[in-house]
Amino acid sequence: MVDRDPERCIECQVCVNQCSFDVHYYDAEDDEVRSHEENCVGCHRCAVFCPTQALTIRRNPLDYRENYNWRPEAIEDVIKQAETGGVLLTGMGNDKGYRIYWDHLVLNASQVTNPSIDPLREPMELTTWLGRKPDRVELAPDSIDLKTELSPQVKLEIPVMFSAMSYGAVSLNVHESLARAATEAGTLWNTGEGGLHPRLYQYGANTIVQVASGRFGVHPEYLNIARAVEIKIGQGAKPGIGGHLPGEKVSREVSLTRMIPQGTDALSPAPHHDIYSIEDLAQLIYALKEATNYQKPILVKIAAVHNSAAIASGMVRAGADIIVLDGLRGSTGAAPKIIRDNVGIPIELALASVDSRLRQEGIRNQASVVIAGGIRTSGDVTKAIALGADAVYIATSALIALGCHVCQQCHTGKCAWGICTTDPALTKRVNPEIGARRLTNLLHSWSLEIKDMLGGMGINAVESLRGNRLHLRAVGLTDTELEILGVKMAGS
Ligand code: SF4
Ligand code: SF4
Repeated sequence: MVDRDPERCIECQVCVNQCSFDVHYYDAEDDEVRSHEENCVGCHRCAVFCPTQALTIRRNPLDYRENYNWRPEAIEDVIKQAETGGVLLTGMGNDKGYRIYWDHLVLNASQVTNPSIDPLREPMELTTWLGRKPDRVELAPDSIDLKTELSPQVKLEIPVMFSAMSYGAVSLNVHESLARAATEAGTLWNTGEGGLHPRLYQYGANTIVQVASGRFGVHPEYLNIARAVEIKIGQGAKPGIGGHLPGEKVSREVSLTRMIPQGTDALSPAPHHDIYSIEDLAQLIYALKEATNYQKPILVKIAAVHNSAAIASGMVRAGADIIVLDGLRGSTGAAPKIIRDNVGIPIELALASVDSRLRQEGIRNQASVVIAGGIRTSGDVTKAIALGADAVYIATSALIALGCHVCQQCHTGKCAWGICTTDPALTKRVNPEIGARRLTNLLHSWSLEIKDMLGGMGINAVESLRGNRLHLRAVGLTDTELEILGVKMAGS
């Protein structure tokens, strides 16, 4: 419901201009601003920008009769499908009540015997190196120089990177905000599967470029300008299916960047048509290494699914330098709702099982592990590292920093916050300079908080926490869950 307080409304029509879902309109006959409130998606743009705070967006109390089985969302989905006969699309990540394991894990803190460290007074190290590490290192005779040749490594000042969001799904201003913030904060951002706009080549040293099944925008300069190359096999929000950017979002700039005709649908097939085995994956990994003169680490990203641990082992053996696992709650610009809400497994369980499996096989050092999908706070980051991740990717939290109110309408291309759209008027709502500052602030806040948590544990380097599950305890989990997570119950 859109409530407009007539005492406060001055008919300035700011809401009419701000709403991209055609809710507010000016009725000249009555000289009043009115609403088609059935169009409202609850993005809060109008309420935030109303200069007199005349607007309140509320849930409609006229709800369906209470029914534990037939909840309003299920009823509405059936009604929409009966009307359209089509697959229901949605944006953002899975919002169903699957257990969020981060909220059942708690971190340790030093008391008395192992003193904590004050991060304000003592140096704390968050530097993270991603890439394949050798089984052992040899030094040159009578020297401290390494004799062992290292695979290419990526240095991060904070173990948090910006996850893949393609140009077309999000605006160029969002890409620029991410690129500038990553450069400023000493981390990496990811182009997603839609190519890299030439305006952003200057940020190549902090850019991961993606090679997905559609191969959009992939050319030698794109690969070589980047710091690392990511092969996208799967995505947490839509495991097992391809991508679809509707033709309306394929503007001239998007079409040039993706190297496809303007106005045509950009369809990424579900599989890579040249990958049907681990050996095929190895061929693509080495083709990309060859194309980049063995200077760039290659990431391989999969959705977290039932047999992730075995797949991850194959990926490492195929030559991946960094493995990316994207969990059940990972977001998307557009996905079939039924897939987003029902396919894949929670990232916490996938991470624990992959880390354990790679350790058991003695190959954990051969690849870094990066996770994505539902990281909300620096607490989640710290727990993920204790559970075995080398670093995490964030996307939704980055978009929230840019203004996103998680209305889940990304697939409509009408994002009122100017984020998930290519509409020229709407995209101006994100200023890359302000966006970059907000993202840098977010990362800075998280780095301070992570240092506080590390200091509390008596640890002065994030490296010492990595995979150290003794620093975690669980609350309210079953024995099976504890076993998979490799974490003890609180109190034990
Ligand atoms: S869709 Fe957003 S901007 Fe439009 S009325 Fe609803 S809350 Fe306001
Ligand atoms: S990006 Fe825009 S459309 Fe998508 S959830 Fe956020 S505010 Fe809504």
